[in-house]
Formats: sequence, structure tokens, C-alpha cells
Amino acid sequence: MTVVLTHRTLPDEMAYLLPTTAPDVWRAAVARAAQLLAPSWDEHPSNLNALSFILLTLSVEREQSPESIPLQAVAEELSAQGEEPQELSRRIKAAGTTAGVLGNGYGPDTLDTLWTDLSSWLEAPGEPMGDAPGHPPALWAAVGRLHEVISGLDAATIRQTPVPLPSPGALTISAGRYVQVVSTNAIRPIKCDTCASCEGGSLRVDGPAVTFVCTEGHTTADHRLEVWHVRNALAHAGVPIGAEVTVEGDLLVTSRAYGEQSDPRSLSRFTAALLA
Ligand SMILES: [Zn+2]
Repeated sequence: MTVVLTHRTLPDEMAYLLPTTAPDVWRAAVARAAQLLAPSWDEHPSNLNALSFILLTLSVEREQSPESIPLQAVAEELSAQGEEPQELSRRIKAAGTTAGVLGNGYGPDTLDTLWTDLSSWLEAPGEPMGDAPGHPPALWAAVGRLHEVISGLDAATIRQTPVPLPSPGALTISAGRYVQVVSTNAIRPIKCDTCASCEGGSLRVDGPAVTFVCTEGHTTADHRLEVWHVRNALAHAGVPIGAEVTVEGDLLVTSRAYGEQSDPRSLSRFTAALLA
């Protein structure tokens, strides 16, 4: 079976940013950001997370709801940023904490994890931290790209753009047998941390978090699992995404170390031979 995967859709990106515990002000910021990016999404799908944090910040600072922040205000904010918007990072952190969106710890389903991914320096590959400058925060490049997209919009277009709806962000995927994580040199089932059972469990996706729940109801976080890889595993298994789905037999998921669109069945000759 050949599966052609498209880029991440705007409703899927929204779902990724919306764990069930997300506060209403954050939901409103994501919705407004999605509306502003909808006209350009097909050509330039990007940076919904960064724009959501910027809208949240403007909402807190201006004491206005995210949906009523004018396009003009967003465009001015973006054009005021230099190439290293460190002050913007500080303001986002402060506003997020005020709004209760940030400061909730680093569990897999907290928005702090998303913010850290966006705002942290990344270690340069192969270089210990301290010896090389590393890669600047993803937020910096995102601000430049958002400036290009947002400054090209006019208010009339946005008024006519419906607010996009997120796709289901809370998924339960039951496996008939094992959830098998595939890397190039191994295929290993996810095992419950508490009772060591593997068979007949399910994966729970909640926004940016994914966990394994065994038949006894114990929850296990496994570092090999990642939400986009799980969504793509369903596409490769030919199972439409829905709030509750069942995969017969084994559910094959590509390990997060490999490309999120990789087909777990053809990741390497070695594992492909084992799965044949
Ligand atoms: Zn268990």
C-alpha cells in the first residue's frame, strides 16, 4: 500500500496545540492565530504555535480578548521585532504565566513544553553545550516568517475568513495486539511501566502528548512516542483519524528519532524483512 501524506493541516496543527486541559484564553489565541494564517496556509504552513503565543501576549497586555486583537496590532508587533527578539520572549513568558497558560510544569500535556521547544537554544549537533553557539530559538525565525505572511494580509480578507475548527485532539487508539515502535534496527513493543504488560493496550493522544495505557489502566510515557508519528502511523495503517479508533493486530509506529512521515513498514531493509 502506498500512502501519500500531505503536510500538516491547519485543523491538525490546532489540535496539537490544544490539550484537553488548555485554558479558554489559550484556545481563543490559537483560534485567532489559525484565522490569520488560514489564507496563506496552503502555500506557507507554519508557525501557528509562535503566533498563538504572540496573540496571547497581546491579549494579556492590552486586556482584550484574543479574537478582538486587530490584524494591524499583530502586524505592528511583528514589524517592531529585530532579528533576535529576546524581549518578546520575556513578554510571552510573563503574559503566559499571568494567564495561567505557562508555569504549570513540564508534563507532556502542558503548554510549557511547547513554549520551551519554541524559545530555547538548541545544542549544535556533535558539539557539547558551551563550545558552540548552537541554534537560535525557533521563535526567532518564526517571527520573521510571520511578519512576511501577516504584513501581506488585509483586514477585509480576515473578516471574511471563517475561524477554522480544530480536528479531534484527544484520540484513543486501541491496539488488537501490541503497539510496536519501529526504528531502523529494532521493533520493540511498548511495555507498561507498572505491570509490564504489552498486549491489548491503547495509545492516548491529548494535544501534544501521547501515552500508552495498559489493559489495567496504568499510564506509561515512552520517549520513543511522538504525536505526529502516531498520527502518521494511523495513515500508514489505513485507519481514519477519529476520537476512538481500533487497529487490528499490531499498531506499528515509527520511533520519534526518524522522520515523522516515514512508513514504519519500510524504515529499513532489516525491519522491513522482520515485518514481511
Ligand atoms: Zn499496567
